[in-house]
Amino acid sequence: MVLADLGARLHGALNQLSRASVIDDTVIHALLKELCAALLESDVNVKLVSQLRTKVKTKVRKSLEEAEKAGGKEVNKKNVVQKAVFDELVALVDPGTEPYKPVKGKTNVLMAVGIQGAGKTTTCTKLAVHYQRRGFRSCLVCADTFRAGAFDQLKQNATKAKIPFYGSYTETDPVAIASLGVEKFRKERFDVIIVDTSGRHKQESELFEEMVAIGSAVKPDMTIMVLDASIGQAAEGQSRAFKDSADFGAIIVTKLDGHAKGGGAISAVAATKTPIIFLGTGEHLNDLERFTPQPFISKLLGMGDVQGLVEHMQDMARANPDRQKDLAKKLEQGKFSIRDWREQLSNIMGMGSLSKIASMIPGMPAGMMEGGEEEAGSKLKRMIFITDAMRQDELDSDGMIFVSFDKSGNPVGLNRRAKRVARGSGTSVREVEELLVQARMMAGMAKQAGGQNGWMSAMQKMQ
Ligand code: GDP
Repeated sequence: MVLADLGARLHGALNQLSRASVIDDTVIHALLKELCAALLESDVNVKLVSQLRTKVKTKVRKSLEEAEKAGGKEVNKKNVVQKAVFDELVALVDPGTEPYKPVKGKTNVLMAVGIQGAGKTTTCTKLAVHYQRRGFRSCLVCADTFRAGAFDQLKQNATKAKIPFYGSYTETDPVAIASLGVEKFRKERFDVIIVDTSGRHKQESELFEEMVAIGSAVKPDMTIMVLDASIGQAAEGQSRAFKDSADFGAIIVTKLDGHAKGGGAISAVAATKTPIIFLGTGEHLNDLERFTPQPFISKLLGMGDVQGLVEHMQDMARANPDRQKDLAKKLEQGKFSIRDWREQLSNIMGMGSLSKIASMIPGMPAGMMEGGEEEAGSKLKRMIFITDAMRQDELDSDGMIFVSFDKSGNPVGLNRRAKRVARGSGTSVREVEELLVQARMMAGMAKQAGGQNGWMSAMQKMQ
């Protein structure tokens, strides 16, 4: 998982808070100290960290004062602190601006810029695959004539991913190639045309001039800067230098897998008010994660990303049209049983990159994902064991069958069925409860997206 170490520390600090019996200044101070230390270690700028500390303190104080004014109403102090921390962590990575979103039915030209080695060519192919999977016809244009082998690299990646591409071994003018490529694909009515540009020149000024010239020729709907996470907070300076010369509308931060400094890069970019649209999380074509501040922090703290998970399921369903029909129908009707959740879990197991996907499931703390694939795999397997121990009617239910109610109809806990399932699967009642909560969340998403517009159009809106 991205920034697993940072996530584990933040999660650990918040856990300390949950365990404390009284929430006083000492507890809040200790929490903030640990949070700040973790952020600094991830190379987040000192000023930003100190601002976060002050803002959390002010927010907590204000909430408590307001509660007191409102008649000394009892407030849950833990919730107040947790919410303030969550909101400020989101603010830390939120640039507060919306990026351009490719629109179906028109030609969207995206141009990638960035220093050589940042991962531009790899990211361009990942992007093309991302949009292709969502029903956009996408293609690639190689306008890097400076680096020998650039076209070969793009060609190789594109061929592997079955994405149409354009480039030239003989033409040396990048502006001419970019124009010809974009023109050709525009005529062929492609939805997304991605132009890869050069990342190095003899002189830096020449590189910037070339970017501007290509930009004027192809008129991109969005210019994307590709930036390597390992530079940490220096990302701010680098993106400013690019912005001064070639304005860009969005950033993709790459190599977040295994780079402890990633937190620094993400927060530094956010400080420049440019939206980060994706994170690169590995060398493979699938290693691209959409970036949205709130789900990102939610995942980091082990609170999951249900929307991301549903989106992922939809991707898998698209890759397998038979299943898509089935799943789409069920979701459209707002139906989602434990059996459906089980099927999704086994699909996930067959997809690889378990730790990444598992981090989207609520209740999977970042610390647990530190163990990587193996640990995520064993956790998912235990979830399947739980469903294996269920009877047919239980699998087909929405999970309420496992809940006991008091005389007035209020839920009071899990019933004997849940205990039987825990015993039968060699797991704990708590794990059974977690699975039930997850299945209910998925059902909730299905209901929300069902109804008039239907699930598919809801998914399209999310693109
Ligand atoms: P370019 O010069 O900017 O076009 O960079 P390339 O696309 O050639 O990438 C440079 C190196 O970084 C290659 O070895 C890529 O496989 C690697 N790379 C790109 N993105 C990622 C990423 O998100 N994670 C990791 N670990 N490696 C990446």
